[in-house]
Amino acid sequence: MADAKQETMEFQTELKQLMDIIVNSLYTDREIFLREVISNASDALEKLRYIQITEKEIADPDIPLEIKVQGDEDAKTLTITDTGIGMTRQELVENLGTIAHSGSKAFLRHLSEGNQQDVNLIGQFGVGFYSVFMVAEKVELYTRSYQRSAAPCLWTSSGGSEFSIGEAQSIPRGTKIVLYLKEDAREFAKTENLKRIIKEYSSFVPFPILVNGERINTIKAIWTKNRNEVSDAEYIEFFKYISNSSEGPLYRLHFSSDAPLAINAVLFVPKENLERFGFGRLKPGVNIYSRNVLIQQESEGILPEWMRFVKGVVESEELPLNISRETVQDSALVARLRKVITRRFLRFLKDEAEKNKETYTEFWKAFGLFIKEGVATDFDFKNDLVELLRFESSKLDKGELSSLKDYVERMKDDQKAIYYLNGRDREMTSASPYMEIFKEKDMEVLYTYDTVDDYVLGSIGQYKEKDLVAADTGAVDLTAEEEEEDSGKEDKKSTASLAEWMKEVLGDRVVDVKVSKRLVDSPALVIDSSGMSSGMQRIIQMMDQERKAFTGAKVLELNPGHPVIAGLCGLKEKDEDMAKLVAHQILDNALLSANLNIDTQSMVNRVYSILEKAVQP
Ligand code: ADP
Ligand code: MG
Repeated sequence: MADAKQETMEFQTELKQLMDIIVNSLYTDREIFLREVISNASDALEKLRYIQITEKEIADPDIPLEIKVQGDEDAKTLTITDTGIGMTRQELVENLGTIAHSGSKAFLRHLSEGNQQDVNLIGQFGVGFYSVFMVAEKVELYTRSYQRSAAPCLWTSSGGSEFSIGEAQSIPRGTKIVLYLKEDAREFAKTENLKRIIKEYSSFVPFPILVNGERINTIKAIWTKNRNEVSDAEYIEFFKYISNSSEGPLYRLHFSSDAPLAINAVLFVPKENLERFGFGRLKPGVNIYSRNVLIQQESEGILPEWMRFVKGVVESEELPLNISRETVQDSALVARLRKVITRRFLRFLKDEAEKNKETYTEFWKAFGLFIKEGVATDFDFKNDLVELLRFESSKLDKGELSSLKDYVERMKDDQKAIYYLNGRDREMTSASPYMEIFKEKDMEVLYTYDTVDDYVLGSIGQYKEKDLVAADTGAVDLTAEEEEEDSGKEDKKSTASLAEWMKEVLGDRVVDVKVSKRLVDSPALVIDSSGMSSGMQRIIQMMDQERKAFTGAKVLELNPGHPVIAGLCGLKEKDEDMAKLVAHQILDNALLSANLNIDTQSMVNRVYSILEKAVQP
C-alpha cells in the first residue's frame, strides 16, 4: 500500500551524473561497495557510542553495537544492518540524494577524464554510498534514528535519476540496507565471497561484523598495541581501511608516550596528494579517540592545518569523553597534544629525509607544498620545517635536491648570503640573465619552481645567520670582474649616456636606467626598485587581476659589453625613431626574461615595426 507520506525526489544533478556512470559501467573492483556500506555502518556506530556518553535518552539503548551482513542466494539479496545512529527523514533527504557533496564534482571530473578504473577511490570523495549501484538494481534502506521521537523511514531507489522516501514499519534503531543484486552480481550473496571481501577491506572495523551469523573480525585497535606486535601487513591494511584507498602508505609513524601526555598515535603519509590533482582542499585526515571512543572524526584541531595530508588515529585517555566536538579546537589540552604530535612527526620526517633520500624525494614531490605552507604559517615549528625544504640547485644535477643545510655546507668562505632564483623550470631558470653573475663567480643558486617559493623563502629571512636573498633583486651584492682594456671604459662611458637617453625615452615605464655590473652575456635585465623578487611580483600579478600587468617600479640595467647596447649608442644618433623602438623592446625583453607579464599586443606591434625596417631593401 502506498504510504500517504511517500515522496519521490530527484537526485541532485552531480549525483545523477555520477549514478549514470556507476550504473552503466563495468568495473573490476565492484566489491568495494561492501567496504563503503560497512564503513558507513561503522561511522554510524562510532557516532552512537559517543552519543551514549553525552546523551541520556536514546532509542533502544540496550541492543548490541554490531554490523550484520546477510546474503540470500535464492532471493538474490544482500542485507547489511547496523545498530548505529540511524537517520531522521530530514537527514535521509540531505545525506542521500539532495545535497551536493563537495567531492562529487571532482570525482566526476576524475572519472570522465578516462580514470574509470579509479572508481575504488569513491569513498575518498565522500560519495561512497552510491557505489552500491554497481551491484544492485534496486536498493531499500530502512532507518530509524537514535532520537526517540523520530519515525522510521524507508528510502528506495533504482539508481536512476530519482529516489523515494516514505514511512517504514517499526524497526530497531539503526539502518538496514537491502540490495537487490543485479543478474551479474549474484556472487555477492555468497557467504564465502562476503567473508573474503570483509576480511580484505574491513578487518579494522571496531565493531563485530557477522556474516550470516558468524562473527568474522576480531577487533584490533592497533594504536594501543606495541609496535613490535603489529606486522607491516597489518599497518598497510589499517591504512587502507582508514583512508578508503587501495594502496599502502608512503610513510608510517607509530608512537606512544606517557609524559608529558599519554598518547597513542598511528600516523600515515599516503602516496598520492589528491589536493595536487585539483580535487580541492583536503579535509583533515586524523580521527581522535579516547578510551576507544571516537571523539572526533577528521579532527580539525588535533594537527596544524598544513598537516592535513596526514591520515591516522590519535588516542589520548586524557581527553574527556564528553568533550564536545565544537570545543576540541579551543581546548588547551588538544593544543598541547597538537604540539607533542607535530614535534614528533617533524622529527620523524627529518630522520627519514636523512635515512632514505629517494623516498623523501617522492614525499617532497607530492607533499612539499604542505611543508612550504607550514614554513609560511606555523610560527611554532618554522625552524623544524625549514630543515625539511628541498630545492634543485645550480651546482647539482637536474632532479637532485638540496636542503638549506647542504647548501650552507657547500658555501664558499667569503659568500655572505644564500641565493635562490624562481623560474618555470630548470632550463629557463638557469638560462636567466640573473644567473650570469653567479656563473661568472662560480656561486651556487637554489632553483625554485613553485609560485609560492619566493614568498616562503622570503618569510624565512635568515638561515644559520645567512640572509636568504633572491638572485633577481638589487640585494645581490656581487659585481663582475673589472675589465682592464680601454675599450671597456669607452663602452661604459657611452652606455652611461645611452642610459640617460633611455630613461627619458622609457618615461614612467622605469624609475632608472643604469650601467650594469652583473651582466655577462645578456644585453639587459630589470631589477625592482622596492627590492621585490620577480617571483614575488608574479604572486602579486596572479592574486590581483587588476594588477595582471603590474611590473612595479623597475630599474633597467644595461650591459655595456653587449653588441645590441653598443649598437644602440650609435643608432640613436642616426635614426632616433628606430632607436626608441629598440629601447622599448629591450625593456620588454628584460621583463619577459624575468617571467613577468607584459602588454603583449603592443609588444607584437612594436616588433612588426622593427621588422618592417629590417626587411626594407
Ligand atoms: P561519507 O560516508 O563519506 O559521508 P557516503 O556517500 O558514504 O559519504 O554517505 C553519505 C552519508 O549518508 C553519510 O555521511 C551519513 O550521514 C549517511 N549514511 C550512510 N550510511 C549510513 C548508515 N548506515 N547510518 C547512518 N547514516 C548513514
Ligand atoms: Mg561513506
